[in-house]
Amino acid sequence: MKKLINIVFFLFVIVAFFALTKKVDALEVVYPRRDNSTIKAKSTFLVGNIGKDKTLLINGQPVKTYKDGAFVHVVPLEYGDNNFELKSVSRDNKVSVLNYKIIRPKPVPPTEVCTNKKTPIPIEEFSDYVIAEVVKNNSPLRDGASDNANRVSHLDKQTMLVLDAKKGEYYRVYADKNTKYWIKNGYFTEISRASEPFSACLRKFKYTYDKKYEYFKFKTDMAVPYKMKETDCGVDVTFYYVSSVPENLEKYVQNIKIENNILSFSIPHEKLWGYDCYYDGSYMVFRLTRAVKIDTHHPLKNIVIAIDPGHGGYDSGAIGPTKLREADIVLDIAKRLEKILENEEAKPILTRNGDDYVDLYKRVEIIKAADPLFSISIHANALPDGANPYVKHGTSVYYYYPQAKELAQVIKDRMIFALDTRDDGTLYSSFVLTRMTSPISILAEVAYMINPMDYEKLSEEQKRQAIAQSIADGLKAYMHASVPK
Ligand SMILES: [Zn+2]
Repeated sequence: MKKLINIVFFLFVIVAFFALTKKVDALEVVYPRRDNSTIKAKSTFLVGNIGKDKTLLINGQPVKTYKDGAFVHVVPLEYGDNNFELKSVSRDNKVSVLNYKIIRPKPVPPTEVCTNKKTPIPIEEFSDYVIAEVVKNNSPLRDGASDNANRVSHLDKQTMLVLDAKKGEYYRVYADKNTKYWIKNGYFTEISRASEPFSACLRKFKYTYDKKYEYFKFKTDMAVPYKMKETDCGVDVTFYYVSSVPENLEKYVQNIKIENNILSFSIPHEKLWGYDCYYDGSYMVFRLTRAVKIDTHHPLKNIVIAIDPGHGGYDSGAIGPTKLREADIVLDIAKRLEKILENEEAKPILTRNGDDYVDLYKRVEIIKAADPLFSISIHANALPDGANPYVKHGTSVYYYYPQAKELAQVIKDRMIFALDTRDDGTLYSSFVLTRMTSPISILAEVAYMINPMDYEKLSEEQKRQAIAQSIADGLKAYMHASVPK
């Protein structure tokens, strides 16, 4: 059996090795993916390779090439056909020519006057309140009637709502006279109509804790919408449609307020490691991750860390000039990071171990099931047509919740130091993999696949090892900085 495992492992290593050592020889264009592509932007880039020891001319002009003959050449686009002749010349004067056409369509003039002015969608007020029940877990409650509006919270199945109007696909959630939120059609079902909004009774309050979490449990017949807000000293919790304050609550929380059926309170906490709110059938449970005891000599010892290599399977992610796939590069970095973390006595888990396609929400499920303290999604960046890869490149790390910002910053700084890349920012963005309130979740864009200098680094084994090491070093530095003073 062990022999078989060894053989399988050996085969995997071979496959992984070939995935990341593409042999390039002939002149080829990797992007735009097809000859005769249509691109609307003012410019694009020709990305590809010519093999080693050759020179490249595009429309007669010499173009700089990089390791393994990689090239990335920004080209402006005129309306209509744009023809490019790519010519590679080897040392012994062998010439290869490739003709490539990109079509930039002329903008179609508007058929009617003022068609660019969108008519605003009217708000339709309801005569009665609609009592509705959420039908999907993780349903986003938003502060505006659009997919781009901020998420106020994610509601569990069975959460009850009062709706008082609709705007297009969005329904307005009545919290009180001055507080309204929005939920999209499809996330709820109508239960009944009523002339007054309902209110739930929080009958009992229970505080418990275990090794990892504190639980604030409210006994109630129905799940109600809630909102959480991180503050410098803990978290502010708001429950809607609640008519009473349960006994005991004041022993465990501060600033209790009840007004217009809105109950709010704050839970003081020195450092926010993560939280979740869910309904278990008879209790609304607010779960707070307890302060982590940090062993300063082994700061990652026993810490569960989720590593999420982006893309995989048929989803290759971005493709570099010499045809390396983002999916393979980030898997290699993830496996190196896994090994380093194991040596640090941490408990890493991967959302994928091989070249498999894993849906984004499935990844969240895998991560949640492992119950980690940190989640790090690893990607390599790309750019849309019209952008310039020689201007926009480098390392960025994304976060969504404020408690993840510091980790994003620390890891980004370490990666930039290890790779000597441009600082592309510590950035706030709403990604599926950054939107977890626990674990502390970040998404790293290590470097750009279509900036040749960045790509050179991504394609070198030593550099990928340095990237993995810098992420582990960032985690260690973050833990050291989190030791209570
Ligand atoms: Zn990606």
